Amino acid sequence: MSDPNAPDNSSEVREIRINPIVPSESVLVATARSMRPKKAEELAPRDTRKHVETCPFCRGNEHKTPPVILSWPADGDWQIRMVENLYPVLGDDREQANFNFGLQQTIDGYGRHEVIIDHHEHGIAVQDMAESHLAALFGVYQARMQQLFASDERLKYVLVFKNFGPAAGASIPHTHSQVIAMPVVPENVDAEVKNSAAYYAKHHHCIFCALIDEALTFEATIYDRNSGAVRRKINVGQYVVERGEKFIAIKPFASRYEWEVHILPLAHQADFLDVRGEDLADLARVVKRTMARLDAVIGGAQYNFFLHSVPHGGTDSKQGAPYAASYHWHLEICPRTSIPTGFELGSGLFVNTINPEQAAERLRAVDL
Ligand SMILES: [Zn+2]
Ligand SMILES: [Zn+2]
Ligand SMILES: [Zn+2]
Repeated sequence: MSDPNAPDNSSEVREIRINPIVPSESVLVATARSMRPKKAEELAPRDTRKHVETCPFCRGNEHKTPPVILSWPADGDWQIRMVENLYPVLGDDREQANFNFGLQQTIDGYGRHEVIIDHHEHGIAVQDMAESHLAALFGVYQARMQQLFASDERLKYVLVFKNFGPAAGASIPHTHSQVIAMPVVPENVDAEVKNSAAYYAKHHHCIFCALIDEALTFEATIYDRNSGAVRRKINVGQYVVERGEKFIAIKPFASRYEWEVHILPLAHQADFLDVRGEDLADLARVVKRTMARLDAVIGGAQYNFFLHSVPHGGTDSKQGAPYAASYHWHLEICPRTSIPTGFELGSGLFVNTINPEQAAERLRAVDL
């Protein structure tokens, strides 16, 4: 297989693309120039074993994990198991003295940090899980988010994410997701929520829906106003990677990562908790097929994925209501094929060395 990250010189692109949802974020798409020393970043190999005697997340070692929160199914051998995190980044109620001095302000590191053991098989990848299993996993995400929001009004946001493979920072090789309930809305989400609300105020429709419509428009011709001559033809359908009945996988026009893909509900929906049980199977299918495409093209996808859903603002779900029409939940999949360099850290400008249109084409071309 050719190096999937090799710069493609056939149709050179060098442009700064503005993220349509959060315009303060932009990406430098520079295909002809190697901004990154690709070869120095060989991905660490992934653990693909089915069962590991010493792994605390494997069946038979249940006594080695912190207390269980829930397991699925309720009887018989568990398929999915949720436990507290042994090393939480946010802790419980411990009374803390906050010293705020001058510009150095802090807020309590209060919250919950939990681990979902996605599957009883140690190294199984998402694309190899049964659709019914994946649907159950998304159901577990929903159930726990719901419980956490209902449990404590100080919790403003519940972030569900997955690190898969050592290149994505997974410290335990057994496949797992994490749930972090926090007392603040993370800045990434807040920027999306506020900017999409501003767009809605101006245009009276959801910007995410508009992007889906654009992705589903297969060809657009732009004519010259005076002469009527064709000025430019754009093929916007090129951003669709995978399509289900209810969900769609799109390659963002301003992708920060070479193989970044977003999955969204086709019909407008702000809150992941509103996905109906019977639609989780379609979500599972789209996620599974998208991961299979990524895995085939990259040759072993190691990635982070995370859910962006409308914030609840504690137990009062009405606090999310102002954004119900303007925000649109989504799952962002960010495969890790390179490490940010000083240029990116210093400028905040992500560098993408693969033209997103071509990346989408290669993902679509995978024969599943
Ligand atoms: Zn294991
Ligand atoms: Zn929408
Ligand atoms: Zn997002």
